[in-house]
Amino acid sequence: SDPILIATDLKRHYEVKGGFMKPNAIVRALDGASFSLTPGKTLAVVGESGSGKSTLARVVTMIEPPTEGQLVIGGREIGPDGAAGDRKLRSMVQIVFQDPYGSLNPRQTIGQTLMEPLLLNRPDIKADERTRRAREMLTMVGLRPEHFDRYPHMFSGGQRQRVAVARALMLEPKILVLDEPVSALDLSIQSQVLNLLMDLQERLDLAYLFISHDLSVVRHIADEVLVLYLGQPVEIGPKDVIFDQPRHPYTKALLSATPVADPAERKERIKLTGELPSPMNKPEGCSFNPRCWRRLEICTKVEPPLQGHGHCFACHNPVPDDEEVAA
Ligand code: ATP
Ligand code: MG
Repeated sequence: SDPILIATDLKRHYEVKGGFMKPNAIVRALDGASFSLTPGKTLAVVGESGSGKSTLARVVTMIEPPTEGQLVIGGREIGPDGAAGDRKLRSMVQIVFQDPYGSLNPRQTIGQTLMEPLLLNRPDIKADERTRRAREMLTMVGLRPEHFDRYPHMFSGGQRQRVAVARALMLEPKILVLDEPVSALDLSIQSQVLNLLMDLQERLDLAYLFISHDLSVVRHIADEVLVLYLGQPVEIGPKDVIFDQPRHPYTKALLSATPVADPAERKERIKLTGELPSPMNKPEGCSFNPRCWRRLEICTKVEPPLQGHGHCFACHNPVPDDEEVAA
């Protein structure tokens, strides 16, 4: 089906004060992302800490407007004021954060938490209908009706994350942005929450933007994968292609750092040297060049464009596609 969200060269820059005798600087937190989201499908975004994942999440959720580029949601363009005042548009995209302990108001019952978005955004819905919908949503996310009057402290991390998902769904969004939604949970609970998310996606035809640094989680849930480096996509494509045939040296290095269960599948490990440079002071040429194990002369001078159809990568010297994975 048609995309519900289209982002074209999306950027979010922050100006930070330089301090005494220092000029102000620009943090290029998100620096030109193009992708689309489709109903019923999951685009996973992976990248190191500081690569701009949460910034992307805030822009897509219309918490912050883009500083440049185009964002079209449900056929409507989000301008420099974001979606200010447009409740209907805002309702279309909801977000679930990583921390199931910090994201719920400890003084509100689960029922109040679920009804709040309706109270604020849907004054047309009467009190008894509000209650009915909240109770229905509790069951939908695998909680029980008696949980309605309980407080967050009585719940486990996994249950709280179910509540956060339920709250995000109260306004019947078309897009769910999930920013590391299972990273804070125990491994055994992670798969339960992931399965719930996949089940809800199918039932409600939701489009997911799923942010994670955990590639085994991404492998489980994604349809497509976008690899972000210093605010820029370096590779994007169908999940299987990204995992089995990565072309960008950074993607290859990320994947080689992930432990595999099956020893027969053991890969050659590529060590990434050096730290992620600051998005305030990006390297010339390809942003990845100072850490790249396939760097050429041109990489230090010319920024490689993101090229391809379906599977795109931004690299002057990509990993050969027939490269045999070393035994
Ligand atoms: P993590 O995996 O740690 O959550 P992330 O990929 O979500 O990281 P972001 O939080 O999007 O990364 O941050 C990207 C970069 O932008 C970082 O260098 C961060 O310091 C910077 N940044 C984010 N928000 C702001 C802001 N409001 N003002 C200035 N710089 C910011
Ligand atoms: Mg983040």
